[in-house]
Parts: sequence; C-alpha cells; structure tokens
Amino acid sequence: MKSVGINGYGTIGKRVADAVACQDDMQIVGVTKRTPNFEAQMAVEKGFPLYISAPEREGLFEDAGIKVTGTIDDLYDKVDVMVDCTPGGIGAKNKEVYAEKGVKGIFQGGEKHEQIGKSFNSFANYQDNWGADYVRVVSCNTTGLCRTLKPIDDLCGIKKVRAVMVRRGADPGQVKSGPINAIVPNPPTVPSHHGPDVQTVMYDLDITTMALLVPTTLMHQHNLMVELENTPSVDDVIDTLEATPRVILVEAEKGLGSTAEIMECARDLGRSRSDLFEIAVWKESLNVKDGELFYMQAIHQESDVVPENVDCIRAMLEMEEDPAKSIEKTNKNMGIMV
Ligand code: NAD
Repeated sequence: MKSVGINGYGTIGKRVADAVACQDDMQIVGVTKRTPNFEAQMAVEKGFPLYISAPEREGLFEDAGIKVTGTIDDLYDKVDVMVDCTPGGIGAKNKEVYAEKGVKGIFQGGEKHEQIGKSFNSFANYQDNWGADYVRVVSCNTTGLCRTLKPIDDLCGIKKVRAVMVRRGADPGQVKSGPINAIVPNPPTVPSHHGPDVQTVMYDLDITTMALLVPTTLMHQHNLMVELENTPSVDDVIDTLEATPRVILVEAEKGLGSTAEIMECARDLGRSRSDLFEIAVWKESLNVKDGELFYMQAIHQESDVVPENVDCIRAMLEMEEDPAKSIEKTNKNMGIMV
C-alpha cells in the first residue's frame, strides 16, 4: 500500500484525493490547506488528515475551530509521493522543497514542462515515466487531445493536426474569472501553447492549435482537423473510439447536443461532484473527407486529469508496468465508463 499526500486541496486536489482513496493499492495519508475554509472542514469530515501548508497560518485554523494533524513539514516523512495541486507556478517552487526532503512529486498542467522535466499521459507515455521522481500530468485540454488523438494515430497514422479549442472562462466555483460578455482569443497568438504541450507526451506529433475563452463554466470544447496517413472509414474511427477507455461517443440526436446537456447527463449519472472523467466526442461530428478526419469533443476540465494522476502514481512508484492494467484498475475503482 503506497502513501500519497495532496498539497493543495482545491478543485483538482480534492478530486485526486477521492480517486486515490478508492484504489486498493494506495492511500491518502494527508492533504494540505492554506485557508481554513469549507474545503478544509470537509476534508477533516471525510477522514483525511489535514496539514497546514503555511505553518505561520496555524492560528487561523485554531480560530476557525478546524482540527489539524500538523504542518506540511510533518507530512513529508509519511508520503511515497506528494501530488501537488497548488495553483499554476507554485508547484515548480515546491519541487525544490520536495527535492530537499527526498520526496517524489506529481505536478499539474499549470506548471511548465521545462521546470518539471517530464510530462505524463496514461495513453501516450506511461512507461517513459517509470520510476521518475518529478512528473507533470498535462493539462485538461492536453489530456483531452491525447485521449482521442493517440488511438486515431494508432489506427491510421496522423500526418498533421489542426485544432481550435473553445475554453471555459471560469470553473463553476470561481467568482473572479471571466470573461462574462466577450469572446477572447486566448492566447491571441498562434499557435497556442496547447500544441507544444501535446508534444511533451506525443513527441513526434505535428500539431498546431488556436484557442479562445468564452463565458461558460461547464466544459471546454475542441474542434479537430486531422490529416491522416491512411484513410479509415468513419465506422472504423467510431469502433476505435468506442473501444478506447475514458472516451465516450455522444449524440446530439439523443439530446446531448451541447456541453450543458452533457453535464446534465453527468449529473444524472449520480457521481460525486457530477464529474465526467471521460472525453465526450460528438458522434455526428465525425467525418472523413479527402484523407482528413474532422470531429468535435467536450472536456470536463475539473475532472478529466484525475484518473491520469492515479496512473501517474503507479508509474512513478513502479507499481504496475502495464499501462492498460493501471488504466483498467483506476477506471474500475472510480466507476469510469469503459
Ligand atoms: P484551485 O485554486 O482550485 O486549488 C488550489 C489549492 O491550492 C487551493 O486549495 C489553495 O488554497 C491551495 N494553495 C494556494 N496556494 C498554495 C500554496 N502556496 N501552497 C499550498 N497550497 C496552496 O486550483 P486548481 O484549479 O485545482 O488548479 C491546480 C492545478 O491544476 C493548476 O496547475 C491548474 O492549472 C491545474 N488544472 C486545473 C484544472 C481546472 O480546470 N481547474 C484542470 C486541469 C489542471
């Protein structure tokens, strides 16, 4: 049984904590909070030992009546790996502390690949991270791109990808992000950082991306144009995506024609937080024309990277050599559709 700590119990951290807690080969030995808010209180109520990531703020937790087990310095000795889910940019600084303490670290997509050294996606490069000390799980958008591009590349070879990403302006729980009344090219430059990010795990892929922010909170939406080496039929692509774990095909005809309806369906699934860990590809959007594949997909940004964090733990701690077995185990324990 491997011991996992979560540094930063926010949107991603609390989900990774739950995903680790439901596996049978790893356990949560502590989660950290900076602020004594409802998330800190709920972590304690769930039975996760709570540690303060900023020891000088201990008094705030006392004043709030939230019981802590200790400070982050007490947690380092207890973990085999720390999953760092702090806001982008902080993880790279924390990496230096983990190195001093001799603790392995997993980081999230808000960190720069160059600062962490290695990046991870369960389907693209699991084995390349075998035994690694510091690894970054790529961002929600990059995870979504890899989930569908890897099986398509395996099916018929990809010559070149062009993708346009429509990004949510804020997560549902955020109050200070936007836009609320604009469409913002973000970044305004081409290519966006997403293409190079995919190349940190699908090393030889020719991919160029553009992205914009819109006033929505539920999901990201991607539009892909993929030039192929060999031309499959649309049915071949459908069969391949249907057989790919963590990818589902949805149909507008069945009432799933928008991100709102997909997330309504996710709510009906009755999962914790209404998460949709799977990438939803619109079946009707799949088309092959002149050797090029077109499709559209939706990404639940708050949750798609969560199972990847669990697989990344198995790769880094040398717990399961076969990525397919880790993916299967993670999915089964998390109730992910296969
Ligand atoms: P968040 O703001 O929801 O949570 C961050 C948590 O870290 C909060 O609990 C905060 O109190 C805590 N924190 C802040 N400063 C800290 C510090 N110095 N030390 C320890 N803890 C600190 O952020 P998030 O959305 O969960 O994002 C975390 C990482 O995951 C980022 O790299 C982000 O880019 C990435 N990510 C986010 C999403 C998403 O849609 N939210 C998707 C994929 C990846």
